[in-house]
Amino acid sequence: MTQVTEHGGGVWSLKVPIPDNPLGHTLVHLLDTDRGPVLIDTGWDDPESWDTLVGGLATLGIAIKDIHGVVITHHHPDHHGLSGQVRAASGAWIAMHPADTHVVRRTRTQVPGQWLDYITAKLTTAGAPAEHLAPLHAARESGRMRTVPGLNSALPDRDITPGELLDLAGRRLRAIWTPGHTPGHVCLHLEEEHPSGLAGNGRLFSGDHLLPEISPHIGLYEDPAEEAVTDPLGDYLDSLERIERLAVAEVLPAHQYPFTDSAARVQELLAHHEERLAGLRRLLAQPLTPWDLAVRMEWNRPWDQIPYGSKNIAVSEAEAHLRRLVKLGHAEAVEGSDPLTYVAVGA
Ligand SMILES: [Zn+2]
Ligand SMILES: [Zn+2]
Repeated sequence: MTQVTEHGGGVWSLKVPIPDNPLGHTLVHLLDTDRGPVLIDTGWDDPESWDTLVGGLATLGIAIKDIHGVVITHHHPDHHGLSGQVRAASGAWIAMHPADTHVVRRTRTQVPGQWLDYITAKLTTAGAPAEHLAPLHAARESGRMRTVPGLNSALPDRDITPGELLDLAGRRLRAIWTPGHTPGHVCLHLEEEHPSGLAGNGRLFSGDHLLPEISPHIGLYEDPAEEAVTDPLGDYLDSLERIERLAVAEVLPAHQYPFTDSAARVQELLAHHEERLAGLRRLLAQPLTPWDLAVRMEWNRPWDQIPYGSKNIAVSEAEAHLRRLVKLGHAEAVEGSDPLTYVAVGA
């Protein structure tokens, strides 16, 4: 039995499992509109997840073919994974922010080996040791090109325009662009009075941007073709403040559980990142590569126990923090160092 929760005012959530993932579930939200039910996110592309989604809808008397539209908070597979299957079964439109649609399109059209070459070059520049790079070189030589997940994810057919109301009959759902976790992450602001009369401005579907107990991963916006130096952590912190200003009555996140005091949670996350940046600045008393920095940063377990792929994600997170420190003028690259190291300035 799918766990279905009614949140009032024509909003439900369905707990859709994520296979082999400590996160456990995606909370797929269902919004009633005058033209039919609309999903916010869909869940992981997996048969059990699909059955859970379909089963959950059935308990509400909704057949999958009745789904009118799908609004996606961001392109990650635990949110966008089942979109294609929902569209195939229902003819529903799929809406996403263009920056994340760009990621989906890029992933679908990548030639074999392109991602492998990109990640190898990136880790080399970041100062990864030879033993970490060896499996990547071996894969290149053997011709076994590991590709990124999401190769088959559906190409959205509608753009989400930041700041505008979505075209949903009888509902006021406004897209709030919240880049950081991904370049095109959006939160969705339901500008309707809270069904239980809670004080504040409506409700917010927050995706992965604002979760009650998890600080979302902020890494680089990995784009092999992109030359621009982006600042995802800076984007994320700005996006948090944008959300705080909405002063919503309740947050309906895509993982964990709903909560009310969004301002307090935003402040916690801002403080968390401020502390983390200060800690990294102290580590940079000596010149370090992004790899060195990742090794010294605090993670949920010791560095040598972190799985291979997660180490790559950790390096990306270290780089996002370095970008922020450089942008703030708190760190700088050491000229002539190879691989490039960074050192704190000021302080
Ligand atoms: Zn995500
Ligand atoms: Zn997620």
